[in-house]
Amino acid sequence: MRKARRLSPKAYIEGITSEDRYILSQAISVIESNRKEDNELSEEILAGIQNHTGNAIRVGITGVPGVGKSTFIETFGQEVIRNGHKLAVLTIDPSSQLSKGSILGDKTRMEELAMNPSAYIRPTASGKSLGGVASKTREVMLLCEAAGYDVVFIETVGVGQSETSVHGMVDFFLLLMLAGAGDELQGIKKGIMEMADAIAITKADGDNIQRAERAKAEYQNALHLFPMAQGGWIPKVKTTSALKKTGMTEVWHIITDYRQKMIANGFWHHQRRAQNIDWMHSVIKDYLLKEFYDTVTIKKMLVQMEEQVATEKIPATNAAKKLLSHFNDRNS
Ligand code: GDP
Repeated sequence: MRKARRLSPKAYIEGITSEDRYILSQAISVIESNRKEDNELSEEILAGIQNHTGNAIRVGITGVPGVGKSTFIETFGQEVIRNGHKLAVLTIDPSSQLSKGSILGDKTRMEELAMNPSAYIRPTASGKSLGGVASKTREVMLLCEAAGYDVVFIETVGVGQSETSVHGMVDFFLLLMLAGAGDELQGIKKGIMEMADAIAITKADGDNIQRAERAKAEYQNALHLFPMAQGGWIPKVKTTSALKKTGMTEVWHIITDYRQKMIANGFWHHQRRAQNIDWMHSVIKDYLLKEFYDTVTIKKMLVQMEEQVATEKIPATNAAKKLLSHFNDRNS
């Protein structure tokens, strides 16, 4: 395979911090690369930009396919930019790794926003790595922050496990819901609702307005039944229409109000600190898993062990312990 052309760490760091979009995109490719030789470069870039990160409002946006995510982000993103911000939108599509097809679709998404010089839109590789769907998204977000994007949206499809990972890397979690579709129809798990700092009922226009208002009242009641969030924030519900461009100012106001209140009571920084520590642990876990499953002798042994476990010749626990003990001894 042809070796990718790489710049020096300094060139990436200077390019990113001087808000050069082209260098930013190249640096993201380095971060997303699974090549061994890019690992060190990634670490150097991340260390070099560290002092320029952390200044953005990080917002997770989720909802089932068809709820109107890309249309919402297209309109809402422009509202954010009108308020003087630079916006990065990172989209995670967990389906793209399972099949060639993709839930987010091949259609052109967020065309207008993509042309806005204050917006940067990037699908982030879901990757086949064991690290899971969002394994590189967090680093990509840090790079965007260092490149001057002071609002970051991370969009996921609200059907999988990626929401939990995304919730662990954002300050605010926005759930998009359709009116009158029923929770089960929307594939939204209670756990996802519990993570929401706000719910936006989408497509509240035309014949749908009344239904949307009813849904708003229902969700507001449902949210009251959940235990109070750690920062003392009570989740808000708003009706929105991306088509009619309504509700956008209100949703942005909720987010800035949240930020102000959570900074004032210390929760904002408390959550960031906890997220950093959690991230370190999840990188350790990913790394150990990868080391384990990439070890050649383990791969061979696994085939035998699977067979013996399947035919109940050896208890699964004992097989696992044998493999782990082999893994521990492999370098001694
Ligand atoms: P996604 O799959 O969640 O990204 O959803 P899309 O943004 O692609 O929207 C799905 C469909 O809903 C499209 O046909 C949109 O035109 C439509 N849609 C999105 N937002 C609105 C809205 O505010 N009002 C109405 N009436 N339709 C909308």
